[in-house]
Amino acid sequence: MRAKLFWKLGLTYLALLVLALFALDFYATRVFRSDALRAVDDQLASVESAARAHPPDVQNLAALQEWVQSTSGGGARVTVVASDGTVLADSAADPAKMENHANRPEVQSAIANGAGKDVRQSATLGRALVYRAYRFEPPSGAPVVIRFALPLAQVNESIAEFRRRLLLASLAMLVLGGGASLIYSRGFSARIERLKDFSHRVASGDFQPLPSDDTEDELTDLARALNETAAHLDRTIRTLTGERNQSSAILRSMIEGVAVIDSKERVVFCNRAFAEILNIDAARCEGRPLVELVRQADLLDLARRALTSADSLQGSLIIGTVMPRSFAVTATPVNALEPAANGAVIVLHDITELRRLERVRQDFVANVSHEFKTPLTAIQGFAETLLGGALEDQKNNRRFLEIIRDHASRLGRLTDDLLKLARIEAGKLEVQYQPVSVAELVEGCAATTLFKASQRNIALNLSYPPELPAVRGDAGLLREVLQNLLDNAVQYTSPGGRVNLSAATRDHEAVITVADTGIGIPLADQERIFERFYRVDAARSREVGGTGLGLSIAKHIVEAHGGRLWVESTIGAGSQFHFSIPLAS
Ligand code: ADP
Repeated sequence: MRAKLFWKLGLTYLALLVLALFALDFYATRVFRSDALRAVDDQLASVESAARAHPPDVQNLAALQEWVQSTSGGGARVTVVASDGTVLADSAADPAKMENHANRPEVQSAIANGAGKDVRQSATLGRALVYRAYRFEPPSGAPVVIRFALPLAQVNESIAEFRRRLLLASLAMLVLGGGASLIYSRGFSARIERLKDFSHRVASGDFQPLPSDDTEDELTDLARALNETAAHLDRTIRTLTGERNQSSAILRSMIEGVAVIDSKERVVFCNRAFAEILNIDAARCEGRPLVELVRQADLLDLARRALTSADSLQGSLIIGTVMPRSFAVTATPVNALEPAANGAVIVLHDITELRRLERVRQDFVANVSHEFKTPLTAIQGFAETLLGGALEDQKNNRRFLEIIRDHASRLGRLTDDLLKLARIEAGKLEVQYQPVSVAELVEGCAATTLFKASQRNIALNLSYPPELPAVRGDAGLLREVLQNLLDNAVQYTSPGGRVNLSAATRDHEAVITVADTGIGIPLADQERIFERFYRVDAARSREVGGTGLGLSIAKHIVEAHGGRLWVESTIGAGSQFHFSIPLAS
């Protein structure tokens, strides 16, 4: 572009200059020539008027020849031609040797009109001449034509000289003017080039302003306007980039999967969560058709319907087979993606936990109803038996009432445990923190258990290091935990077995362990026994009066203290329940 503009401008100037010089040369030559011709003609006119003043005697050829010679004294050639074209006398040549002049234009015109003129190459003298002739009527005889001629050689020489000078001047002007025009066009095209580079720079995102140059013209104005445009663009782009970054940061950080598709079902945007949920590569999903990325027919169908729908559509999706996850899908049509093109926003909301909680709640209601059903049926049954006549049965009536009382107290325990659990799970467990002596805790619970253990012929051992530091906790709640573990140990150990209660410190906590030589817990159940109502052997648990809630209450209490409750067990060899509580200091 630079070379092109530069040469265009430079050559145009040069061409104009050359044209102007040619025109000048042509016009000046013409003017010069006609001026010179007029001067020669004036000279001939004065010779003519002198001749008219002294007319010749045409009858006498010798006198005529003399007259011709005397008249040409001023340097002009004088010829006298008869009306038939015969040359009668001539001042420069022998008339006898001269051809007939009847066809000479000036002669013809003089014969016809009385006067004639011409400029041409002389056939007789072989050089350019200016002619002037007039018709002379002698007093007797036929009229003759008297002609005067002056050579043009001088004129031609002056013209040649003039043209040589003009050429020299033109050459000098050409060199100077051409040089100036080249320098100017070079500077001009360099400025244009700078503007072009600047606009390229702006297009590639560099908005550094163009430094001003010292000239003041339209190009400077253009540069200024471009600078302003660039600054404005810079501001706008910054604002837009900021807004875009903000929204994409929001979308990226959302835990909901979000994707936007256009009217042709191509993905315009998808966030990381969306890609993770559907197990696709987030970096490669933009621009690709949704159908290539997603295998779930329900999701595809919903997205497709949303493109033509007026309202948002709801659906659900289950992903994965080993650990299935549930999602609520919302597909909302949008109209602002591109002008005249629709699109849709798809949002995947993970509701796996919600579904699980729903199931847990349903299970819980079913479990509670089931737990209540057995004692209530028994109470109702025995009450009806008594009313139906067994009241009089002295042998059994007391036993029936005792059964009713046992089931009622079981219902009471169940209700107590449920209330406690509800309180704990609602976050309303009040822990009265204070230093609790581990020694006192284990001694107290051991004493309570000793009677039950001896009844079942189970040995209870207690061991703990002499100087156990106190733990930070609620003595009543911690006693409840330990008592529950001890009761379980006694209940799930056959007569003749052994229960060991021990305590130790480790790092910043005390660990209390209840180990038995009982029936043990299968590995698959070890995690689940802490769930509400979960029992390995429900019949045996009920038989010993268990509610299936003890361990889950215990776990909540321990965790509320910042500790941990866990189990190690081998079937047939026994179980060890451990719980840790942070030390008081
Ligand atoms: P339960 O009132 O039935 O004892 P828990 O929540 O205290 O309820 O215990 C849940 C289940 O864990 C029990 O039903 C039992 O199957 C199992 N379990 C608890 N402690 C022991 C243990 N020491 N030995 C064997 N199984 C146990």
